[in-house]
Amino acid sequence: MSNFDFDLFVIGGGSGGVRAARMAAQRGLRVALAEVLGTDGLGGTCVNVGCIPKKLYSYAAHYHDAFNESRGFGWSVDGVRFDWATLKANRAKEITRLNGVYGNLLRGAGVTQLDGFARLVGDHEIEIATLNADGSPGHQRLSAANILIATGGTPHVPHFTGREFVLTSNDIFDIDPFPQRLAIVGGGYIASEFASIFNGLGSRVTQLYRGEQILRGFDDEVRHFVAAEMIKSGVDLRLNAGVVDIRRQDDGLHIECEGGNRLVVDAVLYATGRVPNTRDLGLDAVGVATGAQGEVLVDAHYRTNVPHIWAVGDVTNRVQLTPVALGEAMVVVDQLCGPAPGKAARSMAYDFIPTAVFTHPNIGTVGLTEAQARERHGEVTVFRSEFKALKHTLSGSSERTLMKLVVDTASDRVVGLHMVGADAGEVVQGFAVALKAGATKAVFDSTIGIHPTAAEEFVTMREPAR
Ligand code: FAD
Ligand code: NDP
Repeated sequence: MSNFDFDLFVIGGGSGGVRAARMAAQRGLRVALAEVLGTDGLGGTCVNVGCIPKKLYSYAAHYHDAFNESRGFGWSVDGVRFDWATLKANRAKEITRLNGVYGNLLRGAGVTQLDGFARLVGDHEIEIATLNADGSPGHQRLSAANILIATGGTPHVPHFTGREFVLTSNDIFDIDPFPQRLAIVGGGYIASEFASIFNGLGSRVTQLYRGEQILRGFDDEVRHFVAAEMIKSGVDLRLNAGVVDIRRQDDGLHIECEGGNRLVVDAVLYATGRVPNTRDLGLDAVGVATGAQGEVLVDAHYRTNVPHIWAVGDVTNRVQLTPVALGEAMVVVDQLCGPAPGKAARSMAYDFIPTAVFTHPNIGTVGLTEAQARERHGEVTVFRSEFKALKHTLSGSSERTLMKLVVDTASDRVVGLHMVGADAGEVVQGFAVALKAGATKAVFDSTIGIHPTAAEEFVTMREPAR
C-alpha cells in the first residue's frame, strides 16, 4: 500500500480507461478514474459518438435495402417511411443505458469516480476541475503512485475558408434537420461508413476524397471493389476532389473543390482523421514525451518516459480501435498487478488485428494486403472469388461479394484474408483466429464449409487467380 491517495489514477473513462480501472481495482489496487463528461458520458468515443451509435445507424440504413429486397421474396411493403427523430431518440436512450452500465461496472469494482477535466500538476499529482456546490468552478487535488493517460482523440478538421460551417462525427449523430443533401469529406473509415449510412437513410450523399481511391491502406482490390459497390448503391463518390472552400448562400453550402468540382448541400461532414487529446493535460509539467501530433510516446508495455505514467488507446495515436485500447489496458494492468494467477503477463501484437469497415457492403479484413505480402514475402499466391450472394438471386439487388486470400507461397501460410460483402466483419472475426494460429492454405482446404453461406467460399477456393 503506497502513501498516495490511490495506487492508480486513470484519466479518461473511455474504452481503455474503464477497462484498466475496472481490472486493476478487481486485482486489489485502489483506483480512481476521472472523466470530463462526468458519469453520464462514461464509455468514451466508442459508446457516445463512435462504434455503438454508428453501428445502430448502420442497421437503420440497411432497412432501406431490406424493404426493397423483400418484394422479391413475396412481401408487400408499401407506405414505408423513415423517421429520423425516432432513430435519434432510441439511440440516445440506448447510449444512456450503456453509460449507466459502465458506471455500475466501475462502482462494482470499487473504483472512485470523479467528474471533471483532469491534468497532471506534479510527478504524482493530479488536479481535477470540478464544480463547487454553488456551481462555481473549483478543483480537487489527488495523488497516485501510477497514472494512466487514456484520454482518446478528437476529430481533426484542416484549416480552410468555411471551416466554421462543417460538422464532425461528434455532431452528425444529432444533426437536425435530417440533411437531404450531405457532403462527406474524407476517404477513411468514418467518411466511408457515414456515406453508406446517410445514403441508406435517404440523403443524397456526395463523398469528396482528395486522392485516387478511398480507404488508403486497405487491399487495393478491396478499395476499388467497395468504391464501385458504394457508387452502385447511390453514393456520388468524387475522387481527386480536395475541398478548396465552402461558402454559405441562401440555397445551402456551396463547396468548391480542386479539379473544378462544385456542389450545393445542406450539411458537410468532415472526417479527416483524429488527433490525440493531450492539450492542457499538463504533460510538459511532468516531462512526459509526446510526438509530432501530440501523441503520448510509450514503450511496448505502454509506459511513457516517466516510469510511473502510462498511456493506452487513441491518445498514443497508433491503431485507433476499441479492442486495441482494451488489449493495451490489460497489458498495463498486468504490469501493475502482475499476471493473473497461472497466466503469463499479457503483451499486444499488432499483426493480424482484424478490422471491419461498416460500409454497405461491409469490409472485413485481417493480415496483409496483397501489396504488403509481396513486399514482405516475395512470392505470394492469390485466391479470389467474386459472386452474387444467394440472397440476391431473388432480391433484385445487384450487390456483389468479393473474397480474397493472400498466401505466402513458400510456407503456404495464409497471410491476408479480405472480404467485401454482407456481414464481412462477422465472417472475418473467426478467420482471424485461424490466421493468428498460422493456418496454411492446406488447412483452409481441409476445412469443411458450412453450406449454403458466403463464408464457405473461403475454404473452397482452389484455383489461384495469380
Ligand atoms: P476514448 O474512448 O475516446 O475515451 C477517452 C475519454 O477520455 C473520453 O471519454 C474523454 O471525454 C475523456 N477525457 C479526455 N480528456 C480528459 C481529461 N483531461 N480528463 C478527464 N477525461 C478526459 N473502433 C472500433 O473498434 N470499431 C468501430 O466500429 C469504431 N467506430 C468508430 C466510429 C467513430 C465515428 C469514431 C470516432 C471512432 C470509432 N472507433 C471504432 C474508434 C474507437 O471509438 C476508439 O478507438 C476508442 O474509443 C479509443 O478508446 P480510448 O479509451 O483510447 O479513448
Ligand atoms: P482515417 O485516418 O481512417 O481517414 C482519414 C481520411 O481523411 C483519409 O481519407 C485521409 O486521406 C483524409 N484526410 C486527412 N487529412 C486530410 C486533409 N487535410 N484534407 C482532406 N482529407 C484529409 O480517419 P477517420 O477520421 O475516418 O477515423 C479515425 C480512426 O477511427 C480510424 O483510423 C479508425 O482507426 C477509427 N475508426 C474505426 C472504425 C471501425 O473500426 N469500423 C470506424 C470509424 C473510425 P489520405 O488517405 O489521403 O491521407
